[in-house]
Amino acid sequence: MSERTVLVSGAGVAGPVLAYWLARHGFNVTVVERAGTLRSSGNPVDVRGRAVDVAKRMGVLPRLRAAATGTTGVSFVDAAGRRVGRVDMRAFQRPDEVELPRGDLASILYEASRDHAEFVFDDSIATLDQDEHGVDVTFDHGAPRRFDLVIGADGLHSMTRRLAFGPENEFVRHMGLYVATTPLGDGAGSGRDILMHNTPGRAVAVSTTTGGAFFLYRSPAEPGFDHRDTEQHRRMLTRAFANVAWRAPELLERVRVAEDLYFDSVSQVRLPRWWKGRIALLGDAASCVSLFGDGSTLAMVGAFTLAGELAASPGDPRAAFRRYEAAHRRLVDPKQRNIGQASALLVPATRRGIQMRNLATRLWPALAAAESLKRVLSRPRPAGPGGSPA
Ligand SMILES: Cc1cc2nc3c(=O)[nH]c(=O)nc-3n(C[C@H](O)[C@H](O)[C@H](O)COP(=O)(O)OP(=O)(O)OC[C@H]3O[C@@H](n4cnc5c(N)ncnc54)[C@H](O)[C@@H]3O)c2cc1C
Repeated sequence: MSERTVLVSGAGVAGPVLAYWLARHGFNVTVVERAGTLRSSGNPVDVRGRAVDVAKRMGVLPRLRAAATGTTGVSFVDAAGRRVGRVDMRAFQRPDEVELPRGDLASILYEASRDHAEFVFDDSIATLDQDEHGVDVTFDHGAPRRFDLVIGADGLHSMTRRLAFGPENEFVRHMGLYVATTPLGDGAGSGRDILMHNTPGRAVAVSTTTGGAFFLYRSPAEPGFDHRDTEQHRRMLTRAFANVAWRAPELLERVRVAEDLYFDSVSQVRLPRWWKGRIALLGDAASCVSLFGDGSTLAMVGAFTLAGELAASPGDPRAAFRRYEAAHRRLVDPKQRNIGQASALLVPATRRGIQMRNLATRLWPALAAAESLKRVLSRPRPAGPGGSPA
């Protein structure tokens, strides 16, 4: 028997890509999204490596390029705004890779998939009840329905995961940081570098290319933290950045009145298994790598892999889930191990750590050049006419 109807929870990054590819493989797909419209959150995300190929095959690469932020690097500044270090981001990006605002990525992927699937906004799965042949689903608003398969692509705080696998605290691990972003509009300034100011354990930044402010700070998990309580978030940010100079006081004023404030714990999601019977998880819901780890890229690649595996064994979703998980874990696991390096670069814990980071970024171009020279010099030289090295 073929498994033909699929419910996808979440129209973020992974959900629309999965819907697109499942529909291309002949599945009937319904996507349910809790938000009334697509979330606008403007933080920049990357489409890299194999996700570029997925985007190319969906025909959306030109649109992604048109929405690219064009950010050139991160300039670290002191309290007076003087540059004390810089990382050139172009050195880490292949020419075909794109950085763009998350909201633009989600919209472009949605537009590519909306004619191939049924999209239901402003609703959420309320209960899931699976048996040998399908999954009975009730919704907060819509009428109950039955599907062959259900995929949770509903992000870090996944409802699908909570209903089918267990409470969030069993799988979501706070990584010792909180992050916030808010749009600034015209107040962002000029230039194509992100400007970032650090004090020990704190980073505050302004990006002209995305027109937003960004806060990142070290903190153990706050008891009673609620990722939906904006007033609590304002209090936490105000406390954390109370003694930070540069533009922090002005940016905190913006936070106090901001309607669009994104705030969350920087977390990783780890589950022993990403599927249970006819229900599987995808993207951040299954394996959030935290803020620094190519989450969008992994969400897109995972969706493409899952759709391909379900199409390859339409009568045996468990086998398909097993192969998807085995293949995709090989990409996710190394990324989940890298968080320490990224946080040491962006938010050093001590004054000395900040100085060392700034020094390293100033030396970095020379070190990189020396490294390239070493590689050129150590390359085997071509043989000369007599068979001896030329
Ligand atoms: C500040 C910040 C910076 C980041 N920077 C980068 C970066 O530089 N590079 C990078 O690659 N990644 C970055 N990421 C991570 C990236 O945004 C995510 O990893 C990626 O979007 C994961 O895609 P997803 O589809 O799994 O989840 P999401 O994009 O989070 O989408 C989940 C969707 O599910 C919906 N939803 C939630 N609950 C329900 C429910 N109950 N019912 C229905 N729908 C629901 C949500 O509204 C949302 O639309 C960053 C994230 C943040 C927060």
